[in-house]
Amino acid sequence: MADLPEFTMTGGPLEVSDRVLRAMARQTMYHYDPLFLELHNDTIDKLKKIFQTKNDLIIMHGEAVLGLEAAAASTIEPGDKCLNLATGPFGKGYGRHVTTFGGELLEIEVPFNESIDPEAVRDMFRAHPDIKVLSVVHSETPAGTLNPIEKLCPIAKEHQAITIVDAVSSVGGMQCLPDEWGVDICIVGPQKCLGAPPGSALVSVSKDAWQKMLGKSEPLRGSVLSMLDFKERLIDNGRFPYTPSVNQVYAVREAAAQLLEEGLEHAFARHRAAALACRAGIKAMGLELWPASEDIMSTCVTAVKMPDGVTDKALRAMMRDKYGVMISGGHGDLIGKLFRIGHMGKMAGVSYVLVALAALEKTLTDLGVKVPAGAGVSAALATA
Ligand SMILES: *Cc1c(COP(=O)(O)O)cnc(C)c1O
Repeated sequence: MADLPEFTMTGGPLEVSDRVLRAMARQTMYHYDPLFLELHNDTIDKLKKIFQTKNDLIIMHGEAVLGLEAAAASTIEPGDKCLNLATGPFGKGYGRHVTTFGGELLEIEVPFNESIDPEAVRDMFRAHPDIKVLSVVHSETPAGTLNPIEKLCPIAKEHQAITIVDAVSSVGGMQCLPDEWGVDICIVGPQKCLGAPPGSALVSVSKDAWQKMLGKSEPLRGSVLSMLDFKERLIDNGRFPYTPSVNQVYAVREAAAQLLEEGLEHAFARHRAAALACRAGIKAMGLELWPASEDIMSTCVTAVKMPDGVTDKALRAMMRDKYGVMISGGHGDLIGKLFRIGHMGKMAGVSYVLVALAALEKTLTDLGVKVPAGAGVSAALATA
């Protein structure tokens, strides 16, 4: 079996703190044990603070993608016009959920190194004022880009549409204000900026979204994809729709506590500092950032164009096995075109970025790419 890499700096999951690991090792409890109920409710309260929302919040037990699919399954009435914004593999992929549940798919697609222009969304709503659902990714992790959901969601709300935002990799690492911005369903993954292991979908749901779910001709109930089950059974009646992942809740609670102790603004600044250091290092090494411009870059991950003459497989294998740093390649259509250094949660620190840049320099040099010695680390340090 391979050794554990010294550093895991991927698009997620990433390394988590010792505190979170220890929390998971707590004895497994019955989910109706009064102590577990207390811990669960406390986790919900903490997450609401992190989401900066007054909306209801549920923890779905599976993965972030469960929350994404459940949002479509729970809200879309067959025949609903749904506008999906395709800015990368996750944005594009959401269109499939729309059609799976009978939605009529309208799409705005941009090259996967760009983000969405709000004017395009405005035009689409002008042409189709009966759009019922808008779906968009906040931080498109596979492309390293960020969509201006603070401008996009209000347009949908002006037209009484429900907004579904894949904020899997943004909440906890960068500003996201569901209530102010009109995000009806906000789906977050614990394994990204929150700094916990994968295993659940953390979802805030607005009153408008509950109404949309209830207003369907056949509201979705009695399904793992049903968000309404969480409202009607758990929120209103204190009964879990199914057994929660007890130890995962411990982990999410601990990660949330740690983040709140640090303070959200501090955490955002830490992610920004790591991203700025990483970008400076990449450019100084003579490499090219993947997103079309720096103002649309997400601060949770740095996506870099694959240098000529290097394969994704060789780069990542050597970087991990010889220099101890596990990074991510492309995802979906972006496989082979880019590689990604993740700096989220615990790993959102300039010191970790320096390690990744040093390992990258050694790897590229070994692979025959000319990289100025020490330039990446030096430029990254200069931003600190
Ligand atoms: C990680 C991620 C997902 C999917 O998460 P899973 O780990 O596959 O559940 C979806 N969207 C975005 C933006 C992500 O970063």
